[in-house]
Amino acid sequence: MAQGAARFRLRVANWIFNSWRTSAAETAAESEPARAGTSFAARLTFEAVRKQYGDRAALSGLSLDIAPGEIVCLLGPSGCGKTTLLRIAAGIERPTGGRVLISDREVASDTQFVPPEKRGVGLMFQDFALFPHLTILDNVAFGLKALPREDARREAMRMLSRVGLARYGEQYPHILSGGQQQRVALARAIVPRPAVMLMDEPFSGLDVQLRDSMQEETLRLMRETRATSMIVTHHPEEAMRLGDRIAVMREGALVQTGSAQDLYRQPVDLFVARLFSEINEVPVRVAGGRIASPFGSLAAPGLADGSEAILCIRQRGVGLTALDDGKADQPALRGVVRSAKFLGDAVRYEVAVEGFDRPLNVRAAPGAGREPGREVRLVIDPDDVLVFPPNDNKLT
Ligand code: ATP
Repeated sequence: MAQGAARFRLRVANWIFNSWRTSAAETAAESEPARAGTSFAARLTFEAVRKQYGDRAALSGLSLDIAPGEIVCLLGPSGCGKTTLLRIAAGIERPTGGRVLISDREVASDTQFVPPEKRGVGLMFQDFALFPHLTILDNVAFGLKALPREDARREAMRMLSRVGLARYGEQYPHILSGGQQQRVALARAIVPRPAVMLMDEPFSGLDVQLRDSMQEETLRLMRETRATSMIVTHHPEEAMRLGDRIAVMREGALVQTGSAQDLYRQPVDLFVARLFSEINEVPVRVAGGRIASPFGSLAAPGLADGSEAILCIRQRGVGLTALDDGKADQPALRGVVRSAKFLGDAVRYEVAVEGFDRPLNVRAAPGAGREPGREVRLVIDPDDVLVFPPNDNKLT
C-alpha cells in the first residue's frame, strides 16, 4: 500500500469527523443526504483528468463515465493511480487538469472546486478507523446528524442489523474483531445513502468467508440505495464479482473498460489477459501476418512481420484425455503428463506437448488416465487462444 494512501486515510478520517461535526446543518440544508430512502442516482464523470506529483504523473488524462446506479471497479497494479482517482472524486485532492462532474454538475476543474462535504459522496476504506469514544451505534448514526437523534439511532440500528451487528450497538468499537469493524464502517458509510459511494479496497484484510458475505451484503445495499459506486481493488475476481463494469488501469491511464465477460473474452493486450485468466505464454515470431503453432497457423492482426509475439493459451481451454480414449481418429496434440497438482475442484497438469519447447499448464477436472507419466491427447479450444505483442507489465 502506498504511503500516500495511508496519509490520505488519516486526512479523510479527520475530514469526515470535522465536517460531520461542524457542518451537519449546512449539509442537511444543501444536499439532504441524511435520511435513508432519500438518495438519488448520480452520474460520475471524469473528463481528461490529470494529476501530477512533481514530475510524476499519477493520472495522465483519464476519462470515465459512471452511469447512475452503476458499480465500477477500478483494477490495476500498485501505484497505477486508483486511489488518486478516488481522492479526486471525493474532493480531497484537486486534479492538475481536466474536470470531474457529479450528475453533470462540475465539482472539480480549473475554475471550480466543490468541497467534499458538499458532493454527496460516501467513503469507505480498508483500514478505516471507527471513532473509539463513540458507541458502535453512535458511530453508525454519526452521518445522520441532520436527523432528530432518535430517528438517526433507529436508522443506524436498522443498518447495524443488516450487517449482523445489532447486538453490539451499545458497546465500543475496541471489542469488535477487524472484520466486524469493517462491517460497522460499511454501515456507517452507507446509512446516509450517499449518491456516490467510493470504496478503497474495502474487503482486503478479511478472511475468505467473511469477504464473500461482506461482498454480497455490500452489493445488496448498493443496489437498494442505488448508489453510484467506484470500488478500488487489486483482485480481478473481486472486480468481476462486484462490478457492472471493470476499469483496468495502468500507469495513470485506463487500459480497458468493460463487463467481466468483455475483459475475459476480448482482452486488449497481454496485461489484461493475464489479469483475467491463467494462461500459457509461448513466444513466437510473426511471418506474413500469421504465426505458426503446433496446432495450426493463426492470424496475428496488427503485428509486423518478423516481430515477436506471444501466443496465449488459457489453461482451462485445453481438453485433456487419456491417449486410449477411443478418439484416436480425431485431430489432437499428443503429450506426456509431467506432474499433476490437486487443487480441490481442479487439477493443474504440467504436460510436455509435441511441438512446444516448454511444457503447457492445463487446468482440468480430476480424471482417470492423466497420472504423471501417462500419454494424453490435448484439444485446444480456439476461443481460448489469443495472440498479442509482448508486454512486461504484471499485476503486483
Ligand atoms: P495502491 O494500490 O498501492 O494503493 P494506487 O493505484 O492506489 O496504489 P496511488 O496511491 O493513486 O496508486 O498512487 C499513484 C502514484 O502517485 C504513485 O506513484 C504514488 O507514489 C504517487 N502519489 C500518490 N500520492 C502522492 C503524494 N501525496 N505525493 C507524491 N506522490 C504521490
